[in-house]
Amino acid sequence: MADCTSCGTWNPDDKDVCWRCQTKLPRIEEKKKKKPSVFFGLPTWTWVIVVILFLAPLFTQCFSAPAG
Ligand SMILES: [Zn+2]
Repeated sequence: MADCTSCGTWNPDDKDVCWRCQTKLPRIEEKKKKKPSVFFGLPTWTWVIVVILFLAPLFTQCFSAPAG
């Protein structure tokens, strides 16, 4: 929702230049919060949970296996 600095025309967020006069639009992404660190498309904390869920059954099997 950036108004063109040249002609004042409203432009959608994804536009880099004004659709009417082709003036380069100022980027307004600085207001947005910094993205969390991402690892292979998922936030890092998601991988921690995945690893825990994956390892938990392995440990459970080890400890619950009949000993001899
Ligand atoms: Zn314009």
